[in-house]
Amino acid sequence: AKAAGRCTFIRYDDHMDVAARQRAVVSGALRRALDRGELRLVFQPRMALSPPRITGVEALLRWSSPEHGDIAPSDFIPIAEENGMILEIGEWVLREACMMLQRWRQHGLDDMAVSVNVSVLQLLRGDFTDVVARVLDDVGIPAHLLELELTESVLMANAEQSAAQLHAFRALGVSLAIDDFGTGYSSLAYLKRLPITTLKIDKAFVDGLPHDAEDSAITPTIVAMGHSLGLRVVAEGVETRAQMRFLAERGCDEIQGFWISPPLEAAQCLAFVRNWRPASMQ
Ligand code: C2E
Ligand code: CA
Ligand code: CA
Ligand code: CA
Repeated sequence: AKAAGRCTFIRYDDHMDVAARQRAVVSGALRRALDRGELRLVFQPRMALSPPRITGVEALLRWSSPEHGDIAPSDFIPIAEENGMILEIGEWVLREACMMLQRWRQHGLDDMAVSVNVSVLQLLRGDFTDVVARVLDDVGIPAHLLELELTESVLMANAEQSAAQLHAFRALGVSLAIDDFGTGYSSLAYLKRLPITTLKIDKAFVDGLPHDAEDSAITPTIVAMGHSLGLRVVAEGVETRAQMRFLAERGCDEIQGFWISPPLEAAQCLAFVRNWRPASMQ
């Protein structure tokens, strides 16, 4: 028994070592990725349901590393948060997303908005509002066309500081969404207190629509609650016409997901939005 215990211990230890070493390697590669131009954004369109209209895009980060191949954001963003690179990367994402929107505006898409995901470290940095204000000013984007997406855990973990930051963003005119709504430990008290503009219902509650009993009870409840608080409600991860129909009938404001489009490279996204017609959604 003793030998087996030892053996397990050693294997466990080795495993931790490999994971830690791998993180260190990726962390180093990530430091160089920004300078080497290995990061880029893709854009996923968002659609209002009535009347049907493309309202904006969510910017999503991609990393293609020559050494490590394509790495998913869920694999490298936690590392960037750990080593602090997320501050630099996050500012790059913000500026790049705004510059892309500005280019599209010059192609005539002048009422499109862009949503950018924000990490907790960015929010905790005292000058994040200044960073955002400067980027908007530099690029020439009106503040109301930018939406920042924050997760519940980000907001709850730093309630006091978050509230002050969020009020500053609203004073600027920037929209604020709670991302992955329903998956974190959100309290309704925070929803009332924080100057949020948008709820994004997590894909987990959309997956089972229209047949799953729980999902088809929960989703309309979130829509109704959001509306009674004066919020815009967006459903994420919509993959089928039946899900879209269900959400449209319950008054959900907007949908995002593969049913509309997967995330697209910038040029494809511009073409998609320009060619999109409401009839394609019937
Ligand atoms: P998220 O913000 O919830 O983004 C939505 C994710 O769901 C994206 O994955 C998107 O590709 C995927 N998705 C969209 N529609 C569908 C659908 O209909 N079906 C399915 N199966 N998936 C769908 P992605 O791009 O891998 O991003 C994963 C997460 O990484 C994001 O989740 C976000 O939390 C984070 N992330 C991405 N870009 C950034 C960034 O620039 N900054 C920060 N801080 N986080 C980011
Ligand atoms: Ca998001
Ligand atoms: Ca989400
Ligand atoms: Ca369920």
